[in-house]
Formats: sequence, C-alpha cells, structure tokens
Amino acid sequence: MDKIYKKINTRIKFITKSFFYLKNFCKLITELKKYKTIMDNECEYLEKCGFFIKYCETKDLACRGFINMYCKGTKMAECKRQEYRNKNGIPPLDDMMPSGQLIIPKK
Ligand code: SF4
Repeated sequence: MDKIYKKINTRIKFITKSFFYLKNFCKLITELKKYKTIMDNECEYLEKCGFFIKYCETKDLACRGFINMYCKGTKMAECKRQEYRNKNGIPPLDDMMPSGQLIIPKK
C-alpha cells in the first residue's frame, strides 16, 4: 500500500511541476511578444486595437499619419486610446483616434 501512495505522490509532484513550467513558459512567450513589439517599435495593443484593425489598410492620409506617429512611432506613449483602455479596462470605440478625437464618417 505504501508503494502505491509513493507512486501517486510522485505522479502528483510531476503534474504540479509540469503545470508550473507550462505556466512560466506561457508567461515567457507573452514577454517575448511584448519584447518583439518594443523592438519593432510597435504598440503592444496593435493586434487587438480596433482603430488599427479598422484603419490600417486605409488610404486616408490623416489616418496613415496617426498610425505612423502613434502605433509605430514616437508618440505611442501619448495615445489616448491606450490611456482610455488602461483607465477603463475596456477599449474605446474603433473610431476614436489616438489623439482622442472621433472620426466622423463622411456622408
Ligand atoms: S491607436 Fe493607440 S492603442 Fe491603438 S495601436 Fe495605435 S498606439 Fe496602440
């Protein structure tokens, strides 16, 4: 009976360790992704930012300018969308520009 308990204990320890390493591995991947976006000089929210997703393909020069200045540029830390997300825990409307103004659709 002692042998069985020992084997079970060993298994439990192994599984616990595996979960610990897997959790750390996932953390490492997240950190590496963040590091890559910093090295590429891209905003960490790029892949999930509604504004970027909606307007990254646009030919509109103003939007292209905002993307180059904020999403992939030197004004990244001043982005009002980031500020809103960090303050409220949810992203703002897709039509909110990094400057904080709303894009009004043309009629
Ligand atoms: S709009 Fe702001 S939050 Fe969105 S990708 Fe550009 S810099 Fe990041």
